[in-house]
Amino acid sequence: MSNALLEVVNLKVYFYTLSGVVRAVDDVSLSVLPGEWIGIVGESGSGKSTLAYAIAKIVPPPGRIVGGKVKFMNRDLMELNEEAMRGIRGRHIGFVFQDPLTSLDPLRTVGDQLAEVIQVHLGVGREEAIREAGELLELVNIPRDRLNYYPHQLSGGQRQRIVIAISIALRPELLIADEPTTALDVIVQDQIMDLLKEVQMKGASIMLITHDVALAAEMANRIAIMYAGEIVEYGDTRSIINAPLHPYTAGLVNSVPDLWSAKTIKSIPGFPPDLRNPSPGCRFHPRCRQALSICINERPPMTIVEHDRCIACWLYLKR
Ligand code: SF4
Repeated sequence: MSNALLEVVNLKVYFYTLSGVVRAVDDVSLSVLPGEWIGIVGESGSGKSTLAYAIAKIVPPPGRIVGGKVKFMNRDLMELNEEAMRGIRGRHIGFVFQDPLTSLDPLRTVGDQLAEVIQVHLGVGREEAIREAGELLELVNIPRDRLNYYPHQLSGGQRQRIVIAISIALRPELLIADEPTTALDVIVQDQIMDLLKEVQMKGASIMLITHDVALAAEMANRIAIMYAGEIVEYGDTRSIINAPLHPYTAGLVNSVPDLWSAKTIKSIPGFPPDLRNPSPGCRFHPRCRQALSICINERPPMTIVEHDRCIACWLYLKR
């Protein structure tokens, strides 16, 4: 029996569109330990949000999970039916999405929405659910009297805190936060990150999905770098940021501005590939300055290069 909270093994999610099959997540494996913070980092379209949806089995059509396993708390989620999954979502896996307005019902007060989650999942009475909803609001630094407010009466940052309050109401073991601060200014972003840190300190694991490598570097214990539907580098945050090995990771790290140095920011030339017809080799090869001839036709396997550090790149494989 594994001690990982979540284990994703060779997961594949394809979208069957009229113009072809999009391999949005292609053979992705990773694990999340209890209480750790993992960052899933990549450009938009790299498959990181699809990976999160697949973990909770909420991939929207025309997407389908076509292969692989997701083990959560030692249960194979791929074998659970929809009713069993409803018992996992919210209760054991919480979600915070980028736009809080899509997660909140504009026609109901936040108190109603919070209390309903508590009542339905914990089977408590209305009065107790409202009392717990008030405590949750205070936990996310919102005065209890806001229970009677509608979402449009709150600021963007307050709405995101309400979403976090709803997602932690049932004390899930895993909280997946998909670009939770993209629409917020940097001060509010800091406050939301502090709040998520508190949630982690109380024992939850956090999966932060972000395009912002600097944010992931600041918050996560481990990072998985995604490119074109695949994980290309995975391991301890400090070693990846201090010494990125994969050329794509190095490009991402070099594209982060540094206020205190005269570092030249380098962007990564070119564009991600069309995932309807990806290269049989390394998907990054058209943009890679270090590409070898083998990179064009042979996909580099994920290899452990040092303790808990994996990379998919022919530069680090003995041939
Ligand atoms: Fe570059 Fe080849 Fe490594 Fe891909 S496998 S990142 S093309 S060197």
